[in-house]
Formats: sequence, C-alpha cells, structure tokens
Amino acid sequence: MEILQAVVTAVAPPLCAVCGRSCRPEAIVCARCGRRLARAEPLLGKGSPGLDRAWSSAPHEGVARDLVAALKFRRLLPVADLMADRIQWLAPAHMLSGAIVPVPPAPSRLRRRGFDPAGELAAALAERLDSPLEPCLARRGGRRQVGRRRAERLGQPPRIHATGPVPRSVLLIDDVLTTGATMSACAQALRAAGAARVVAVTFARRL
Ligand SMILES: [Zn+2]
Repeated sequence: MEILQAVVTAVAPPLCAVCGRSCRPEAIVCARCGRRLARAEPLLGKGSPGLDRAWSSAPHEGVARDLVAALKFRRLLPVADLMADRIQWLAPAHMLSGAIVPVPPAPSRLRRRGFDPAGELAAALAERLDSPLEPCLARRGGRRQVGRRRAERLGQPPRIHATGPVPRSVLLIDDVLTTGATMSACAQALRAAGAARVVAVTFARRL
C-alpha cells in the first residue's frame, strides 16, 4: 500500500483538496488554502435543545465548506484527518472529553455514498484524543425517498434511537451542523438512554 502510494505520488504530485493546485507531499490543502482556513473563527455556544454546549471549528463557508464537500461528495478520506487535527488544536479542552459518538447517517445516504463522513471524522478524532469511539445511535429512514424529502420539508425531526448502552458523558461529532434538529434528536435519544452530559463538536457550522 505504501509502495503504491509512493508510485502514485511520483506520477501525480498531491493536489489541494480545495483548489486543485499542487501542494507538498502529505499535505491535504495547499499553503494558500491552509492560510485561509487558519483565519476562520471557531464558534462556541449553547447549541440546540438537549445539548450542554456546541462548538464548531469554522463557519460553513469558504475553505471549510469546500472541505466538507470534498469529504462528503468526492470521498477524499484524508480530509477527515485534517478536520480532526483542526478540532484537536482549536477546541477548548473541556469540549473534548467524553466518549465519542458520531451523528448517525440517514440509511439512504449511507447506501448511496457507501461511507459515512461523520463516522470517518469521529474515528479520526477518537484516535487523536485516545477517546473511546461508541457509535451507539441509529437513524430510521423513511420508507421511500419521496416520503423522507416531504418529512424534511415539513421540518419533522429525524428519528434517532440508541442501539445499546450509551456512555454517561458524550462528545457528539458531525462534519457540519445545520439546523441543529438532528443534534437535538441525538441528544434526546442519548439522555433517554442514560447520558448525563452531551456536548457537540462539528468541523463546520452553517450560520
Ligand atoms: Zn488550495
């Protein structure tokens, strides 16, 4: 695998996940995009109902938004490492305690993409923080795509439940925080199953 990677690197120099310009080996973004991301301000707040605190490493715009898309839609898995690095460096220490629980994907999206961006980010972060990774939540999907879209349009919260015992102290992880309805549904399911503390950390947040 390493040899294959070396060959690939020799044939095609690594390209920035955001702008596509060549960048130094091992880098995920070029120096210019790295600087733009470094200027993004993290956001800390109370979060949606059910959460104790919520922290995001950047607003969902510019380089941060492009990175979310690169992971989600182009399946550039090393982007999850860059996101986890940024979270580890910038998040206040009190936000990074507890067992790591990824926000569960909608079953239809998981089937379509074949992987789960939030799960990838959660695993990369658990490794860095040496924290337990406990994917103990699942999401029920609408039976038909049409029904699911309609449910979203009507603003119905996603149906999330615990699949087993949940940790007492939870660090919920998602790549991007949008309306907060999903986070609230997760927090509700976790607390119903016995969690006493639920904080949420995301790479980006829609404003
Ligand atoms: Zn770039």
